[in-house]
Amino acid sequence: MASSSSLIRRTVLVAAIVAMVTTGEADEGGNQREFDYFKLAMQWPGTYCQRTRHCCSSNACCRGSNSPAEFTIHGLWPDYNDGSWPACCSRSRFNEKEISTLVGALDKYWPSLSCGSSSTCHGGKGSFWAHEWEKHGTCSFPVLQDEYNYFLTTLNVYFKYNITRVLNDAGYLPSNTEKYPIGGIVSAIQNAFHVTPEIACSNGALEELYLCFYKDFQPRECAVGSILLQDMSLSKSSCPKYVSLPEYVSPGRAKTEWTMSSVPQIEAL
Ligand code: 5GP
Ligand code: 5GP
Repeated sequence: MASSSSLIRRTVLVAAIVAMVTTGEADEGGNQREFDYFKLAMQWPGTYCQRTRHCCSSNACCRGSNSPAEFTIHGLWPDYNDGSWPACCSRSRFNEKEISTLVGALDKYWPSLSCGSSSTCHGGKGSFWAHEWEKHGTCSFPVLQDEYNYFLTTLNVYFKYNITRVLNDAGYLPSNTEKYPIGGIVSAIQNAFHVTPEIACSNGALEELYLCFYKDFQPRECAVGSILLQDMSLSKSSCPKYVSLPEYVSPGRAKTEWTMSSVPQIEAL
């Protein structure tokens, strides 16, 4: 017969497993096992920027004609084959000085499309980059061993697998009137990279596209073991059969948070 203390231990263990399965995340901060593969998450600014209600210097949607017109990076995420993922794997805090030589490229290809600050793993707030490094980047050990390598490698993989170019070449151009068959978008990526992307939509518009990679950055299918994946490409969310790829629309008439003194800084971006 089980003793009451072992019953309590088992109950706590079951509760922890249920919590992990529900959130998809493994236990934070503890000894998390090594990840199985990488997922590169990319966001479509035309969809994200429709949400911009007010502007601020950190939001690339507010750069007017310099706002991003191609998929930008959301993050490089270490994942497990069972569909869950580790998070916040070490106490290593984000230090922008370590990536000072990459900031120009990161501003262009990995900008924040939001004004809000992001949560960090240690109960604080930080930049989008700080959030991505602390939550996901720290879990990419031992393949990527530090912050500089995490950001540099992510940029290189993103440049190599240029989904904006693939979709444009297949005739899927940004438009505020056209709708495109989701199957055609998936096929274009499959033809180019021989793997199936995952796709997330918001209000019928393509919002994020995910490509998965082995630890040596060769493309692979995402979460093969996941029970959710009847149709891999649509597993991330509810995309309709036809989706839009909205053109960037300037937040223009929206109220701004800018003060006169901050305007030159924004124009310089
Ligand atoms: P959402 O619920 O918007 O899809 O995801 C919220 C957050 O959960 C993401 O920004 C990311 O940090 C995490 N997340 C969602 N899906 C995945 C995934 O497949 N892998 C990893 N590693 N994190 C994910
Ligand atoms: P994730 O969903 O990756 O765990 O969390 C992203 C965090 O960064 C959220 O707190 C979100 O508010 C913040 N954030 C800042 N800029 C962006 C952005 O451009 N895209 C997304 N998805 N989140 C952003």
